Amino acid sequence: MNSPINFLRNFLLPQLTVVGIMLIALFGLFWSATSQQNEAAREREATLIETGLTSTVEYISNNLRDYARWNDAVDNLAIKLDPDWADQNIGPYLYDIQGYSRTFVIDTKGYTTYSNDGPKRTKEQARTVLKSALDPILERLNSADHGVEERYAARAQLDTGPAIVAASPILPNPGTKYPASYPRRYLIFVKNVDSAVLGKLAEDYDIAPLQFSKKLATQAELASVILRKENGDLIGELSWAPARPGDTTRDRTLPFLVLIALVTMGLAALVLKIAHRTTQDLAASEAAARHMANHDVLTGLPNRRALRARGITLASQPKAVLYLDLDGFKEVNDLFGHQAGDALLKEAVERLRHVVKDKGLLARVGGDEFSILLTGEHAHKEATNMAPRIVASLGEPFKANHIKMLVSASVGLSLGGPDSDVDDLARLADVAMYAAKASGKNRWQLYDPEMDAGRETRKLLESELREAVKRKEIDVVFQPIVDARSGKIICVEALARWISPTQGSVGPAIFVPIAEESGLIVDLGDLVLRKACMAARDWPVSLAVNLSPAQFWHQGLVGDVQRILDECQFPADRLELEITEGYLVSRPETATEIITQLRSLGIRLALDDFGTGFASIGYLRRFALDRIKLDRSFVDSVERDEDAMMVAQAVISLSHALKLPITAEGVENIAQSHMLTIAGCERLQGWHYGRPGQASDIGSLFRDSDQFVPDPEISYPPLRQVGKAA
Ligand code: C2E
Ligand code: CA
Ligand code: CA
Repeated sequence: MNSPINFLRNFLLPQLTVVGIMLIALFGLFWSATSQQNEAAREREATLIETGLTSTVEYISNNLRDYARWNDAVDNLAIKLDPDWADQNIGPYLYDIQGYSRTFVIDTKGYTTYSNDGPKRTKEQARTVLKSALDPILERLNSADHGVEERYAARAQLDTGPAIVAASPILPNPGTKYPASYPRRYLIFVKNVDSAVLGKLAEDYDIAPLQFSKKLATQAELASVILRKENGDLIGELSWAPARPGDTTRDRTLPFLVLIALVTMGLAALVLKIAHRTTQDLAASEAAARHMANHDVLTGLPNRRALRARGITLASQPKAVLYLDLDGFKEVNDLFGHQAGDALLKEAVERLRHVVKDKGLLARVGGDEFSILLTGEHAHKEATNMAPRIVASLGEPFKANHIKMLVSASVGLSLGGPDSDVDDLARLADVAMYAAKASGKNRWQLYDPEMDAGRETRKLLESELREAVKRKEIDVVFQPIVDARSGKIICVEALARWISPTQGSVGPAIFVPIAEESGLIVDLGDLVLRKACMAARDWPVSLAVNLSPAQFWHQGLVGDVQRILDECQFPADRLELEITEGYLVSRPETATEIITQLRSLGIRLALDDFGTGFASIGYLRRFALDRIKLDRSFVDSVERDEDAMMVAQAVISLSHALKLPITAEGVENIAQSHMLTIAGCERLQGWHYGRPGQASDIGSLFRDSDQFVPDPEISYPPLRQVGKAA
């Protein structure tokens, strides 16, 4: 979707290309600007050289005028020739002070009357030195009338190299009228454009040393000025290394430009990278959000939503849904903490994955509830095979933080055709799972339409029970508990009874859980306690009343019990509350507190169904209990089965070790009563001694003082009250 390659192609490359092109354009612009700077400098220097040469020519021309228009010159060079005067005033003299290499005095035909070569006077003819350069001079000067000023000044090419040649007729001082006639003579100055001249030129204009060559130079980096004669013939070329201000600019600016370019590229890359990361993060969080919407955080399994989506995509195939719930998971959480619970869940998921493999979609649909959707023609067979394997797999002990934990799974299974809706199947599997739980847990159950009826009945019972509690229509019956040695009644246990208007008699094993789940248990418990206390108030024995776990944790328990005892004027030390062990251990601090408060009222506490839970002995010692009730399952078959007797014996010994008296429940025959008495049970309860009976029936037993013995733990002798009542 947003792979790095795509990012490169779609974003990075085009962006960097744009930035790159911009930078290249910038560099190009900069390069051309500095090149133009160089070119302009070269042109300016060439112009300077041209100007310099031209002004040298003009200078010589003007200088010549000073010597040619001079009365003395007419006298000494034209009218007569005085070579000494010439040596001292022109010729060698001018060579000395102006650097003119040669001076000639000629007539109109070019015949030379005076000449010098540097410091020496010579007999050389001007023609010999100037050659063809003499012709334009004669032509120009001869073209004017005698006596009229005419000047010639131009560049020339001589044997010695380039030179400037200037010529003028020798005339009197301007403005003076020369008295006599004089012959027509011309004065010629020659200045070689030698290294000294070129050096002066370069120095004056601040230009690199100039070089003269007769041929045109081709060196591109050099600047040049082409020298031509007046007629256009080539003399040669002056060349020099031009100033390159553009290069200086480049040298100074380029590092900064490169730096700016790098920084720009870097920033561009950075911006793109950030953009990329943001895009990636967005994509990732979007993917994560999508994953989270469809998956469970703890186990990473798909959730209910994902399951539903899969069902929709796989419509038109046979389907099967397994629904499972961990039995005892809540207890693990309560007992060992959520961390252990989470660890157990993860391990459970591993096991489930191992069983399901790729045959179905495993999803977590609740805290400890999972669902598996199978589709395809073998879905029904595979799901039916899978269910018992799941039960077996999750029935194995779990281990987390070195704690061994035992839970199990109840599994519901529903099978559907191609048209079945996954939601519907899941609901049916859920119903089957509840049925599996209700029929003993650690098992699997295929959905049966009867189960829905069961659920309906349960709903009905709940509303009827609510009504019954409101109208106080819960009855209480009493079952005698006898002293093992005398066989006489020492206590009675109150047991709740209810007759549903539609279902008839419903046992507490069914309606107490309904009351617990629907929040009726506190009111129901209060009702039973009140009725029991009222009924048993005047009996000469103690009274045992059951407390449900949900009631035990109810905040107002101690206050409620106290108030009821007060209302019924029932002595607290005659009341024994029966609680079961498992839930005490889940919150030992609070349990200890509640037990302490109840005991401080004078109430005694018995541990019901002892041996069926998994409370640790250490906790039981801590709980300051008054009595243990051995669960009926240990009593069952002790008279027939030696092993059962040994187990019962062991549990009884345990209670002795805890220094707690023990009551055996469910004693149905004389053999059991004998064996349990010998084993050390102080009190016995069961059909052998009496079925639970109406208060009036039980109450009548106490008219016969042979039927009961006083409970030694009761400080207040009830006999007196019996006497009063009787
Ligand atoms: P439990 O506290 O262990 O009560 C003893 C149960 O064993 C009673 O069943 C009683 O009728 C039965 N039983 C007594 N002797 C024998 C015998 O010799 N053989 C056999 N097979 N059974 C015997 P019941 O009354 O159906 O009560 C079932 C459970 O319901 C009780 O077990 C108790 O946990 C709960 N329960 C009953 N009444 C109340 C109540 O008022 N409040 C609360 N919270 N729970 C109650
Ligand atoms: Ca009981
Ligand atoms: Ca019991």
